[in-house]
Amino acid sequence: MNKSFEHMLANKELTINLNKNFDGSEKVLSDNLQQEETLREQAMIFDSIQDSIMLHDLEGRFLYLNETAWKTRGYTHEEMMGMTIKQIIAPECENGDPHRLKAAAEKMKKDGYVTIRVKHMCKNGDRIDVEVYAKLITYHGQPCILKSIRDITQQLQAQMEIKKLSIVVEQIDDSVIITDKAGMITYVNQAFCHHVGYSREELLGNTPKLFKSHQHNRNFYKNLWTTILDGNVYRATLINKKKDGDLFYEDKTITPLKDDKGELVGFVSTGKDVTHEMLMRQEIEHIAMIDQLTGIYNRHKFEQLLTLEMERSRRFSEPLSLIIIDIDHFKSVNDTYGHHTGDLVLKYLVKIVQKNIRKIDIFARWGGEEFLVLSPNTDLKNIAVLAEKLRLAIAKAQFPEVTRITISQGISTLEEKDTFSELFKRADMGLYHAKEHGRNQIGVIKNFAE
Ligand code: GH3
Ligand code: MG
Ligand code: MG
Repeated sequence: MNKSFEHMLANKELTINLNKNFDGSEKVLSDNLQQEETLREQAMIFDSIQDSIMLHDLEGRFLYLNETAWKTRGYTHEEMMGMTIKQIIAPECENGDPHRLKAAAEKMKKDGYVTIRVKHMCKNGDRIDVEVYAKLITYHGQPCILKSIRDITQQLQAQMEIKKLSIVVEQIDDSVIITDKAGMITYVNQAFCHHVGYSREELLGNTPKLFKSHQHNRNFYKNLWTTILDGNVYRATLINKKKDGDLFYEDKTITPLKDDKGELVGFVSTGKDVTHEMLMRQEIEHIAMIDQLTGIYNRHKFEQLLTLEMERSRRFSEPLSLIIIDIDHFKSVNDTYGHHTGDLVLKYLVKIVQKNIRKIDIFARWGGEEFLVLSPNTDLKNIAVLAEKLRLAIAKAQFPEVTRITISQGISTLEEKDTFSELFKRADMGLYHAKEHGRNQIGVIKNFAE
């Protein structure tokens, strides 16, 4: 609605016969020329208004149309002046909701004005949504209706787009939360309420602290807030807590919301539950580093840990030693009792070794029936002690079905310029030596020179 025009109408400052000068003094229409001039000026003013101005009598016959009124509807001035307002209002308005138009007519009768939204029809059949401010006036002694009409087609389309978007946000599976800049929740979608088990009422006015799982440290949240308060988008996988206390992983994106002036007004946070994917990944990582039969580290993980231990040993000048364990005559265990019993023996042996090593010792299955023990802060003398302890523990143990099992071991300790393969090679040679000399013993090659 053109406010100033409406305002002037409402305050009776303007009639269709503008008969005042700009300073408010009465115009003296001394002759026809001056009257024509005044009319031309009025026409110019009304024609430059972007809203449509229409004046019609109570039968709907047009008495005045400004340029916008006929041009935007695709008519010439002459064509439209020969029509009535009924031909302009789209028939579906009358058919769709006759009560509304009737109520508007009643209001007009009672108050002398009314505002109503209708559809107008153009010459080519196109519809335009309009908001009409209609006022009963007296024109040349006759009651007439003066209308100021604004095209709101685009405004309604924009509103429709927003409505469609909000339906989408409400329907999607991902969670959507909007907060003000202090973090207070002003909107949550259905999916999020459903997911966390809180009602919308419980969440509105609260803050996302409600979902804190205490799985992240203070720095984590500090980084989050610094990022978004600086106006940047924050992305991370968060562990959050539901109402029933269950934890869940959520891929979160928090986007700062800014107004037209660029001022921060709040945040939009979208999230997707990735708990299933995270658990799968953890399982895959576990499978990747753990030997499936015995549950101890596999070769791949051992190599990773070994690199770290070698660096550590050198940095702190601490000794680092290795044992290779190989079961004696294991082939015959399989041959005599079957592969299944062989597997049980392997598992049983792992349990015995685990009981006899320290927590910091790294125990892994190297392959087949060969195992490694890497002992940090342990020199050759002490690794020999540990190997002997293991040898005795295995030799004394009562294995399932097989009863007795022995192991041979090779030991070595990290020398100054050793690579892993040199450390390993010496232990392997020690093992070979032990096998050669009757098994159930420990072989040690002090260095290659010997
Ligand atoms: P040695 O005293 O010389 O070591 O004799 P050995 O028979 O133990 O010989 P070797 O170490 O070469 O034999 C390895 C055997 O271990 C061969 C294979 O059948 C068996 N083996 C390897 N992996 C597995 C396994 O996962 N389960 C079972 N049951 N047996 C395995
Ligand atoms: Mg072997
Ligand atoms: Mg063997």
